[in-house]
Amino acid sequence: MQKVLIIGAGAAGLSAARVLVESDYEVEIFELDSKVGGLSKSFALFEQFVDVGPHRFFSKDKRLNDFWLAHTAGTHKQVSRLTRIFYNKKFFYYPLRGFDALFKLGFIESALCVLSYLKAKCKPFKGDNFESWVANAFGYRLYSIFFKSYTQKLWGIPCDKLDSDFAAQRIKGLNLYEAIKSAFFGDKNKKHKTLVDEFSYPDLGAGVVYENMAAEILARGGKIHYNTKVLGILTQDKKAQGIIISDAPNNTTQSHTPSTREVMGDIIISTAPFNDMVLSLGELDSHTQSLARNLKFRNTILVYIEVDCKDIFADNWIYMHSKGTKTGRITNFRNWTSGLLCGRDSSILCLEYWANDDEELWNVSDEALIEIAKKDLVESSLVRSEQILRGSVLKIHKSYPIYSSGYKEGLHRIYEALDEFSNLYFIGRNGSFKYNNQDHSILMGLVCADKILGKSAANLWHINTDYDYQEEKK
Ligand SMILES: Cc1cc2nc3c(=O)[nH]c(=O)nc-3n(C[C@H](O)[C@H](O)[C@H](O)COP(=O)(O)OP(=O)(O)OC[C@H]3O[C@@H](n4cnc5c(N)ncnc54)[C@H](O)[C@@H]3O)c2cc1C
Repeated sequence: MQKVLIIGAGAAGLSAARVLVESDYEVEIFELDSKVGGLSKSFALFEQFVDVGPHRFFSKDKRLNDFWLAHTAGTHKQVSRLTRIFYNKKFFYYPLRGFDALFKLGFIESALCVLSYLKAKCKPFKGDNFESWVANAFGYRLYSIFFKSYTQKLWGIPCDKLDSDFAAQRIKGLNLYEAIKSAFFGDKNKKHKTLVDEFSYPDLGAGVVYENMAAEILARGGKIHYNTKVLGILTQDKKAQGIIISDAPNNTTQSHTPSTREVMGDIIISTAPFNDMVLSLGELDSHTQSLARNLKFRNTILVYIEVDCKDIFADNWIYMHSKGTKTGRITNFRNWTSGLLCGRDSSILCLEYWANDDEELWNVSDEALIEIAKKDLVESSLVRSEQILRGSVLKIHKSYPIYSSGYKEGLHRIYEALDEFSNLYFIGRNGSFKYNNQDHSILMGLVCADKILGKSAANLWHINTDYDYQEEKK
């Protein structure tokens, strides 16, 4: 029986394992955390349940939907989607609704936005970057009101240094003309992927799907090793041989000396941060290694604040485009499912911040971060200071692969170099350096398993970039 070693028990790793345990494979998963789900885990906080920021699942692919639904074990509810932009202390619908935007922006500002769009139509902005892509689709003025500050907070680089892939992936098919047309006349035939009005969601959080997958994997003889850090991948003659693991990933005490050991296997699937694992490959040439070192990830800081109020805002989450606030997005878990609330009357908000390793925000104490979050809430008038009960911080190292200008050339060279290795697969959001949602990571896991089983010849590197296209075709 062939042994498959999987690095990471997130959406991608678990999906691959879930399929492989049904066949004649021995499956072992090695997970840094003490629970499954990765970025899509759910956990208990302040006597309620929360996710790692907002986690809405959406796909038009039947196989993915069936697979995801099967693992909610019938606990999913339909949730209405409302996700507005908060700008100048006003909520704007996204996509823009004609009269709503007109009244809130004012007639003169709205007219200037349309003129700016027409100007971009006559003389398009040049360059393959986020700023020119969005300014051409919406006009520079609207781009600077509704896209620029959020995007710069998220990525930490100027928008003209960010590859247009991010825009193409997330707001593909939208532009001001379409937005105005659908705002005034409706658009019955076409619903953009990011704008669906309703989504399914497990009553106790997105992570339930992954907990159920893990239970099925264990029930079929698979193994999950928690609190285990994979330090690197062993290869010989460009064939995967095994991994090196450490038993104390988060140990900071002087008294414990972490022990490391090798685990041998026939096939290896990695969903851990791409460059960490790529750089561990001893047989990789120095040029490819230097390209891998250039790939950067952004970190996320989530500050959860419990608020003594039931109706702060009606949205599942809001995008913060207000000048002066440091947070980029706020999730309100009260507006997801009743199961999350566990009968409590308070609301848990999750404020998102992003930072690089060397930024002050990443290095300040949790107490300081909670103070920043409280200030953001009070100064934006969303919450009064006396309503704030308590706070908690979750720091996620490496959460967003950064699509900086020109990243693709280097990445594709690395992909080509990795194709020379056999029985070694890199999948998932961090694992393949792709800005995946859950559906993309699950799909990568399923297709990876199909390839191992000899049922698919698909190119795993193309999943996500080509996937929207495949969805539309379907
Ligand atoms: C704030 C936020 C909001 C999001 N919102 C949505 C949303 O609304 N809808 C949606 O569909 N998606 C959303 N996503 C994306 C979604 O979370 C990811 O696409 C998905 O969880 C990725 O799954 P994965 O398995 O590819 O990677 P991960 O979830 O990153 O899983 C990788 C696993 O590997 C483990 N690991 C890492 N390094 C090692 C190591 N060296 N050794 C052992 N284990 C290791 C990690 O602990 C983790 O469990 C969001 C992400 C974030 C950060």
